[in-house]
Amino acid sequence: MGMIYERQLAIPAELKEMYPLTAKMNETIQDRRAELVSIFEGRKDKLILIIGPCSADNEDSVMDYIGRLVPIQEEVKDKIFIVPRIYTNKPRTTAEGYKGMLHQPDPTEKPNLFKGIEATRHLHMRAVMETGFACADEMLYTENYGYLDDLLIYVAVGARSVEDQQHRLTSSGISVPVGMKNPTSGDYRVMMNAISAAQNGHTFIYRGWQVHSEGNRHTHAILRGYTDQHGSMKPNYHYEDLVRLCDCYDEMELLNPALIVDTNHCNSNKNPFEQRRIVKEVLHSARHDERIARILKGFMIESYIEDGAQAPGGGCYGKSITDPCLGWEASKKLIYEIADHNKELDRCSCIRYHYRCKERITRNIPNKPGSSFAPGFIFLDPLPGFCFI
Ligand code: PEP
Ligand code: MN
Repeated sequence: MGMIYERQLAIPAELKEMYPLTAKMNETIQDRRAELVSIFEGRKDKLILIIGPCSADNEDSVMDYIGRLVPIQEEVKDKIFIVPRIYTNKPRTTAEGYKGMLHQPDPTEKPNLFKGIEATRHLHMRAVMETGFACADEMLYTENYGYLDDLLIYVAVGARSVEDQQHRLTSSGISVPVGMKNPTSGDYRVMMNAISAAQNGHTFIYRGWQVHSEGNRHTHAILRGYTDQHGSMKPNYHYEDLVRLCDCYDEMELLNPALIVDTNHCNSNKNPFEQRRIVKEVLHSARHDERIARILKGFMIESYIEDGAQAPGGGCYGKSITDPCLGWEASKKLIYEIADHNKELDRCSCIRYHYRCKERITRNIPNKPGSSFAPGFIFLDPLPGFCFI
């Protein structure tokens, strides 16, 4: 046989019995989850930041990083909802290299999945217990989702997995928002089909069971750039790319149309310092176009304590061992800038108008006294957070 069965691992129910959530942790997770869902449903107007290192390579530095986010989240809580990235599984283009904490709890040692499933649960639990955040992870292996399903409030399906049927079916049974990334080729249809598949219920095999899922109403798009036929990285966060996504959503009958822009990976050409400029450009596009503003829910940002990246075992505390990240000082500044940007939008939300000129003309509603705006537009109740000028 080409595969040796080395060691039987605990099933999710057993691992949860060994490491159960406390009532307090569960309450924190449910509260954070409910708020996140309310943003995806448009009932709350905040920007979501899914932010943190490319890979959670080291428990101490990841906890240190998430701890630093706590006071900032408190300061910007009216504008921004932070979901720290604790990415414990790393997809590798050639399946070589560090595959994440699940495989290698110590990146310098050989794979140990037995320790890995404990280490990943332990880290996600510590984050909830010690910081009050509930976090995001990538679902790289669908059968492992049960090890963390009571802890996560956000799940991403990666660019290399989004076309896979089992990922789509499993996502349809997940009860937190699932972001479907565009595939590495950049084909929007693959991502849109994944969203559609996951929003519907299915009957399928999952971990040796016949299961039935109800469909996930909060499955949505993540644009992360792509690689063209010549192997060059291309962005897909520009205005035209976002309009194209709006058109896709308009054509398909999907629930809660939503977009998270991944500002690193092929969008930044793996230059993490571009992330600030990309965020600003996307926010500008949202100001310019009401349809973009409606679907834009936030950003995925790769950020850690130190700028850049190093080889596994490189020895620099808080520096990524996978994709290069934006360091702490620049990340902090960026979060404040995004919050300020949202404040600015609030200040000018009073000048938001809807295209209701016909109604105004037919009902002969006069312009607001003192208004300097073009006649033909009527002021309606402004939506907080965004304006169109
Ligand atoms: C990531 O988010 O670190 C990642 C691997 O993403 P992608 O699937 O877009 O390459
Ligand atoms: Mn990455």
